[in-house]
Formats: sequence, structure tokens, C-alpha cells
Amino acid sequence: MLLLFSFLFGICIGSFLNAVIYRLPRKISLSKSRSHCPGCNKLILWYENIPILSYLFLRGKCSKCDFKIPFQYPLIELIVGVFALFITPNSLELNNLWSYFFYVSVFSSFLSIVLIDLRHKLIPNSINIYLSLIFFCAVVYTKGPYYWATGAAIGVLFPLGVTYGFYLIKGQVGLGGGDIKLFGALGLYLGPIGIIHNIFLSCFVGAIIGASLILLKVVDRKTPIPFGPFIILVASVQIFLPEYFARFMGLILGHP
Ligand SMILES: [Zn+2]
Repeated sequence: MLLLFSFLFGICIGSFLNAVIYRLPRKISLSKSRSHCPGCNKLILWYENIPILSYLFLRGKCSKCDFKIPFQYPLIELIVGVFALFITPNSLELNNLWSYFFYVSVFSSFLSIVLIDLRHKLIPNSINIYLSLIFFCAVVYTKGPYYWATGAAIGVLFPLGVTYGFYLIKGQVGLGGGDIKLFGALGLYLGPIGIIHNIFLSCFVGAIIGASLILLKVVDRKTPIPFGPFIILVASVQIFLPEYFARFMGLILGHP
């Protein structure tokens, strides 16, 4: 029963994320609740807006015109639903519920950042602010201020310094403001050591993938490659699979 409820909850969050991913980069308010078909501007009725089911009975098309509903919509609903299913707590204790809420929030924010950054090459401020609040709540009672304050300071100042230096030398802006704010938010939760690991590893992975894309002529040298997905990739392992990350860092730094 709890599993079913958790899955349905995840699907509904996924449905909300579809609105976030579409509306935030286009500066459309989230509180304007009714959506319209982008093809013919028809108002989407409540029964055409049920997560996953509506996509199936509409056969992936608008009911009035032939506008194809992107497959991304039901897919995101399903991904968040399955994630929520996996982390369903086995009892309704307050601690378990908080962890559940925390992981669903972080996962949802990460998913939105990756999709928005890939398409629009920006990370909305509101998602960074939301993440900072969630992370702050998670550490404020368990870690001392030294941990989260230095984590956030390093997360903002270190990439900012490097970007500024890069700008002075090459006259190009390397990292966007959204990336730097995201590092700052993550620094709260990961602490000073964790955020340094994240900065170095995400730059390393980003440089390798960026160079490969240029070599394979998928992008040319001038195209800016969104950096957010690399930060999120490393942070996801750090937050959702911390034991694997610790073992991986042990291998790199040469201690068991
Ligand atoms: Zn339509």
C-alpha cells in the first residue's frame, strides 16, 4: 500500500517537474495552473492532464490538433515514480519521512537542472535557491557551521576565482553564474572536502567529454557546452551512492 502510494506520489511530482522544466526557462509563472496545447492553444482539460494515463489514451497527441506530446513528459513522470518507489520508507517515522522527502526533492531538482541546462544553457535561480534551502535544513542540526559555511564559501569563491582568472587570460567566460551558484548550494551539504572533490571531478569529466565531442565533431570549438550536467553527475554519486563514492576516492587517493 505504501509502495503504491509512493509510486503515485513520485508520478505526480514528475508531472509538476514537466511544468517546471517547460515554464521556468521561459519565465512563465508556475502558479498559472492551466496549460494550453503549444500547437493549437486549446485548453488542456483535467482528464487530459493525468500523469502517464492521459498520454496513453491520447496516443501521444493533442485531442484537437495533431501536435505530438513529447515523449519526455510520461518518461519524466515514470522516472520520478520509479525513484520514489525505490526509496519508499518501511515505516512512517518522522526521520524516515524526512529522508524520503529530502531525496525526492534533491533528485527532482537535479533532473530539472540537467534538462533545462542541456536545452537552454542556463540554471534557474529558483531551483538553486530551493536546493540551498533543502540542503541547509539537512545539515543545520547535524553539522557545525564550519562544515556548511566553508563548504558553501569554497563552492562559490573557488570556481568564481578560476573563472575570473580564465576571463583575464583568454577574455572568455568559462562557467556561468548558475553553475557557480549550484556549486555554492552543493557546498552546504557536501562540506569543504566534498565540494572540492566535486569541483575537480566535474571539471575532469567535463573536459574529457567536451574534448571528445569536439574531436568527434559533434560540436565545434566555439559552442559552449553546458556544465551543469557534469556537476550533477558527480553530486548524484556523492549524495545517492556515498559508499561507492568513498571507495572510488580511496582508489584515486591511494588509501583503503
Ligand atoms: Zn493542439
